[in-house]
Amino acid sequence: MEIDKKPGIYEELGVPRVINAMGTYTIYGGSKMSRQTIQDMNDAASSFVDLNLLQKRAGEAIARLTKNEAAYICNGAAAGIYLGLLAAVALHRGKKIRYLARQDFHDSEIVVFRSHRSPYDIILDQLGVSIVELAYSNHTLVSPKEDIEAVISERTAAIYFLESGWVAPGAPSLELTASVAKKHQLPVILDAAAMLPPADNLWNFTKAGASLAVFSGGKDLCGPQASGLIVGRKDLIDLLLESAFPKHGYGRFLKVGKEEIAGLYSALCQYLSADMGSRIQDAEDQVESACRLLNDHPYYLAARSYPNEAGQPIPRVLVKIRNAQTDEQQVLNYLSALTPPVIAAAAGKQSFYLNPMTLTKAEMEWICHQLLKFPFVQH
Ligand SMILES: *Cc1c(COP(=O)(O)O)cnc(C)c1O
Repeated sequence: MEIDKKPGIYEELGVPRVINAMGTYTIYGGSKMSRQTIQDMNDAASSFVDLNLLQKRAGEAIARLTKNEAAYICNGAAAGIYLGLLAAVALHRGKKIRYLARQDFHDSEIVVFRSHRSPYDIILDQLGVSIVELAYSNHTLVSPKEDIEAVISERTAAIYFLESGWVAPGAPSLELTASVAKKHQLPVILDAAAMLPPADNLWNFTKAGASLAVFSGGKDLCGPQASGLIVGRKDLIDLLLESAFPKHGYGRFLKVGKEEIAGLYSALCQYLSADMGSRIQDAEDQVESACRLLNDHPYYLAARSYPNEAGQPIPRVLVKIRNAQTDEQQVLNYLSALTPPVIAAAAGKQSFYLNPMTLTKAEMEWICHQLLKFPFVQH
């Protein structure tokens, strides 16, 4: 495979460029922006502009494009969940965000299903709102409506809901949760950070009853890494427009620049007009070609795995190692010691994944050819 040897900013800093076979993981740079997005950010960076107006207009445009009442660009999905809760507390306490005091947060609760807990949800704790957990990590509720209602009180400000491949089967549906929330006039804040594709999710979750749905701008949307998108109810988003960044007070530290706002808007426009079918076909082709190449080797057994870890409708390759002396960590270490280094995810039990989502066809084939050269011990 041709490696771009042109020295650039990463070379100057001594940080190797990697081939990412893991997927849209922030820790390896999430996703790559298109030329168009980079060009639009470049344009945005070259002028001064009224940031309040830019935030408002970009939100209005995105709301129209995504068939939502309103939209707000923030600096990541994690930030979006924090801001969503901030707006929910303001609504609950009947105050504008800037008038909220510490006591208002201490007097508020958010309901969270134990099966929806994730390494990201510590954000819910940061305003001082109490988390009220419900049900079990891997268990269906006995009587879902009644069980949710049992933890709702006058202190409840919102219900948090996670859409992800991680959620245990049998957890209550968004529709059911939203119907209970509606009855009690509570907003549902939905973490859908990695739930793209399909692009329809940009409006399907709010249609299904989420008051606010939050997406990462830096994953499959291919927007700026430090961007996120909140879509949904206008009353809640108006509270943010009135008080969150670039205003002072709560949320001021969640800074989103003109470049990110322009970049996310640009990336979103491209995402909505992209040919998702051909993109998924490309992933299928990569998986098929990887399986063909690797299955010629006596020590590999490669198969299509679907959907991927985030529940996205994109296949991956699950590679099993059939050599008793070799475990997946040895193979992953070998891949990460290549030039350029290849980052792939372990799948346990002598196996690992190759994810086409962040690879080109040429990269996937190169990885497979390198795997064929792994120095197996004969047995
Ligand atoms: C990636 C992710 C986040 C965080 O998204 P950022 O845009 O990086 O802040 C939150 N929740 C879930 C489920 C995620 O997958």
